[in-house]
Amino acid sequence: MSEQLPLAEADVIVVGGGGSGLAAAAEAARLGRSVILLEKNPQTGGSTSWSVGSVTATNTPHQKRAGIQDSPQEHFEDLAAHAGPLAPRDNLALRRILADNTTDMLEWLMRLGVVFVGPMPEPPHRYPRMHNVVPNSKSFAYHLTRHCRDLGVDIRVNTASSRLVKENGRVSAVEAQDSSGARMLFRARGGVVLASGDYSGDPELKRQLASRDVADVEAVNASSTGDGHRMALALGASVVNGDIVRGPIMRFIPPTRSNFIQRLPPTKPVAQLIAWSMNVLPQWILRPFLMSFLTTALGPSLDLFKQGAILVNNRGERFVDELGKPSYGVASQPDRIAYIVFDDALAEKFEAWPYFVSTAPGVAYAYLKDYRRNRSDIYHEADALAGLAESMHVPAEKLAATLAEYNVSGRGARPALIRKPYYALGPIKSYVVFTDGGLKVSEGLEVLGGDGAPIPGLYAAGSAGQGGLLLEGHGHHLGWAFISGRIAGRNAALEAGAGRGAGR
Ligand SMILES: Cc1cc2nc3c(=O)[nH]c(=O)nc-3n(C[C@H](O)[C@H](O)[C@H](O)COP(=O)(O)OP(=O)(O)OC[C@H]3O[C@@H](n4cnc5c(N)ncnc54)[C@H](O)[C@@H]3O)c2cc1C
Repeated sequence: MSEQLPLAEADVIVVGGGGSGLAAAAEAARLGRSVILLEKNPQTGGSTSWSVGSVTATNTPHQKRAGIQDSPQEHFEDLAAHAGPLAPRDNLALRRILADNTTDMLEWLMRLGVVFVGPMPEPPHRYPRMHNVVPNSKSFAYHLTRHCRDLGVDIRVNTASSRLVKENGRVSAVEAQDSSGARMLFRARGGVVLASGDYSGDPELKRQLASRDVADVEAVNASSTGDGHRMALALGASVVNGDIVRGPIMRFIPPTRSNFIQRLPPTKPVAQLIAWSMNVLPQWILRPFLMSFLTTALGPSLDLFKQGAILVNNRGERFVDELGKPSYGVASQPDRIAYIVFDDALAEKFEAWPYFVSTAPGVAYAYLKDYRRNRSDIYHEADALAGLAESMHVPAEKLAATLAEYNVSGRGARPALIRKPYYALGPIKSYVVFTDGGLKVSEGLEVLGGDGAPIPGLYAAGSAGQGGLLLEGHGHHLGWAFISGRIAGRNAALEAGAGRGAGR
């Protein structure tokens, strides 16, 4: 620390204001410690606010109301079933922490004002365990940020951490820059918590840790650039399960305007009203609202392709075997976009169960009519191929030639696309939703160095501190973010107090 930078000091410094960082800051502040939270974006939330908002938990008030007798042990076992062939790579100690703490985590969030509906089933979970936040996932950051401010946490937005400072063998400070580029040092009397999310938006880390195939695929949350991973790697830390990536998956491009549900304020009274209506109102009243959300957040079912739909790029060319790994092909097309094209026979099928265009598992299914109603921006229908091409902004002659070739020689056992009218859905893009490689950590969320010993003063939580834990299925990532955040915050706080040491 030879250069003199402006200095701020607190007991605990948290890097990142998503679910795990806010949970860490809240827990450290609850223990009476001063906390500075550094968030590089103009607002808190991170991927936590991009999420669908499902949180999987046991022994919750919701399960009890539904008469479900569940246990952390059964949840622990079912996590292995979700992991399938990956299961031998799991970090069982961290899995145990996750399964043992979901009840407390959900009740804590509820006390802060977060409202959930559920539980919904999601096999192979043996009981319904999925709780979905209402009205939307911005609720987490909204309530946690308020709670942190109430507890006196100093939240610095537009402040990007870039380097960890180590003095006398321990991490003692974080260097950061504000939006004007001004650099500053934030010194921690106790611990520093890295809660900076994943690296889905960083081509270089994806290439190094995952594979070249996903390196250039866009992330849903482009600001997940693995900053905390990089800062800790520079101090000798390591990343576990870096190759496990959710994606690429295809999703329809988001609408230019957010939908009604996304615009609802996540206050408790609004959320309670929605939860109440979901319990008492009939499905036919609720469905249109649910669909207006789902058709903006979801991607196409691969069954569309099995039943005969094809993918074309914006030149009207087919570019991939739709029955292979089509999402990998989409990312390398011009403008990284594609369209799903089909005929009336297929359209008729996808108007009702069991043929759905999209699903949020355990929640609902969206059919073609739902896209027609809610997504006129990506829904194309025309009696002639020329009209379809015009609506899609692709060359008409090329599209006609592509379909003719497919019908004659390219379709294998799939039906020909010949019945008018013709349809297309798109643009779609391929995205990496998140990466699962986390820094290697102890059960106390201390970051471990190359020698396997904790790097003194340094903790990690959420995606940054995933430590080889597998979070397959739905609702486990958010659960881990809140649970690990609280543990890391507590242990970083204890370092600033008399009782040094990081227990669970
Ligand atoms: C589309 C989508 C849907 C999902 N749905 C679900 C779901 O329904 N259920 C579920 O369990 N999981 C879901 N997930 C995964 C889940 O959202 C994440 O795993 C979880 O939110 C990670 O929390 P986190 O606190 O580790 O990271 P984040 O919430 O991403 O927070 C990290 C924060 O750190 C900040 N930051 C990063 N670098 C710096 C830096 N250098 N300096 C300062 N700040 C920095 C970021 O801006 C961000 O605010 C979903 C993810 C996506 C993208």
